[in-house]
Amino acid sequence: MRKKIVAGNWKMNGTYEEGQKLTSEIVNMVKDELKDEVTIVLNPPFVHLQSVKKLIGDSKAIFLGAQNCSDKASGAYTGEISAAMLASFGASYVIIGHSERREYFKESNKELTGKVNQALENGLSPIFCCGEPLEIREQDTHVEYVTQQLTESLFSLSEEQMKKIVIAYEPIWAIGTGKTASSEQAQEMHAAIRQHIGNKYGASVSDDLSILYGGSCKPDNAQELFSKADVDGGLIGGASLKSRDFVDIIKSF
Ligand code: PEP
Repeated sequence: MRKKIVAGNWKMNGTYEEGQKLTSEIVNMVKDELKDEVTIVLNPPFVHLQSVKKLIGDSKAIFLGAQNCSDKASGAYTGEISAAMLASFGASYVIIGHSERREYFKESNKELTGKVNQALENGLSPIFCCGEPLEIREQDTHVEYVTQQLTESLFSLSEEQMKKIVIAYEPIWAIGTGKTASSEQAQEMHAAIRQHIGNKYGASVSDDLSILYGGSCKPDNAQELFSKADVDGGLIGGASLKSRDFVDIIKSF
């Protein structure tokens, strides 16, 4: 049985007070309105990790994640944060290879392998992001593009390691643009990703792999997206900053 997961990516948003307010609201709504059927992951900026973890407490449904980690274990890398540090603050997940990091910080598929390895060595589940830019979608080569991202970053992993990975398919043209992929477009790519992982690691691994959709997912389109056979949840940007919207997205399952 694969996990249903909804993860909120706060990006670089929220002061300490705003982060506390948002987390408290989500924790209370989840307690009052949801059964523990969906795994919820909050991915605040690094500086909020400790205070968000405190508010999550021993929730069975809500887990802590981060938005990035270093591909190095430790050392003279000013400004970087290691996977070991994240784990020591109670994180269970870490987003790796978000398109904003690939674009603005020039993270390559090879560097991402190092980050994935660090995450796994420290007991974190990577939420590995993949997705194509608009010109690739227009050339109709999106499946090849995305499967190559997966091959180059993940295919050196062992079967046991692959079982810990969560994939987030995020078409870049849909991130923060209000332009969502149709549920058919999402399903086509999610099925192709599952097939690609299955070809390498076998169906027992790919059947259990959670593949999340990301890109302008909102309360009014989440239900349609999540109804597709290979869409196992969402990675939510903008709408994860509004507690009501975020919880309504989770309730769409
Ligand atoms: C994201 O950046 O991961 C994302 C999905 O953003 P948004 O929901 O705002 O499109």
